[in-house]
Amino acid sequence: MSTAIAPPYLDPEARAARVDALATACGDRVEFGRSVDGEPLVAVRVPSPRPDAPRVLCCANIHGVEWVAGLVALGLLERVAAGAPELDELRARAELWVVPCLNPDGYRNTWTRGGEGTLAQLRCNAHGVDLNRNYPLPAGTRRLALPGAGSLEPGRATWCGPSPLSEPETAALHELCAAQRFHAAAGLHSFMGTLIPARVTTREHWAAYGQLCRSFAGAQRHRRYRRLASRFIDAWTGEQEDHLHHGLDCWAICVETFTVAASLRQHLRAPSRFWRFNPRDPSPWIDSDVGGLAAYFSAAVALPRPAALSRSRTGP
Ligand SMILES: [Zn+2]
Repeated sequence: MSTAIAPPYLDPEARAARVDALATACGDRVEFGRSVDGEPLVAVRVPSPRPDAPRVLCCANIHGVEWVAGLVALGLLERVAAGAPELDELRARAELWVVPCLNPDGYRNTWTRGGEGTLAQLRCNAHGVDLNRNYPLPAGTRRLALPGAGSLEPGRATWCGPSPLSEPETAALHELCAAQRFHAAAGLHSFMGTLIPARVTTREHWAAYGQLCRSFAGAQRHRRYRRLASRFIDAWTGEQEDHLHHGLDCWAICVETFTVAASLRQHLRAPSRFWRFNPRDPSPWIDSDVGGLAAYFSAAVALPRPAALSRSRTGP
């Protein structure tokens, strides 16, 4: 079996062209920044019939090698363009924004290397920074020296960069989120087959994320993902979800498409970094996860924002 990157995965030019075509079909193409290497950072805005509708964000491919995440984001837009009924409720309730690739330099690097290389080479941006460890930590918290919590050492796969929001990609996403005041967001990754909400410690937020994760999983047809989180044992990492929840008052979850077991089975047959993260046939995962995303966003916009939920439960 070939280890080369193969269709339906798209080379960087074909990917950009698909995003442009879907923007024309669905709404507006919004360029909100540039990567280190000067590639445009593009969002597609899908307007709602309600002018005052809350806005929700689906953001994929913050990690360069996780191409299936980008295909899930494009699948969401393809179903909007096709008028799929599974998105009717969400479209009536919310304005949808989709960022199919927040790390175009990592994506291009993965393509140039044919999907082979170290995790640090394929995951990070052109400065070697793990963009999902480059967000500010909530006030009063600190980074612990734990695996996955973000490394202070350049060259590591989880190097958090010289300072929070040091990278043009994360700074641009922060500015976009601050300007649009998204009510809910989902960051798309692979390959753990789980839902990882922002880290929260209050009972109200824990219960709300439980409800949101059940909404997501209940709408999945292929494989239902479970919540991976703890109220008591967790670490601050500089991840996008934590920043959106605690810094910008937005419901935020990380969706890990594909499962460890399915990844392992595929990897044993065709050892390659790329095929560890991306299913040979992504279509069942895309179908399943698009349904989950639509249900998650619809449930999230029915909730008050995180800060308002706290106030409503604890009184003035
Ligand atoms: Zn990832």
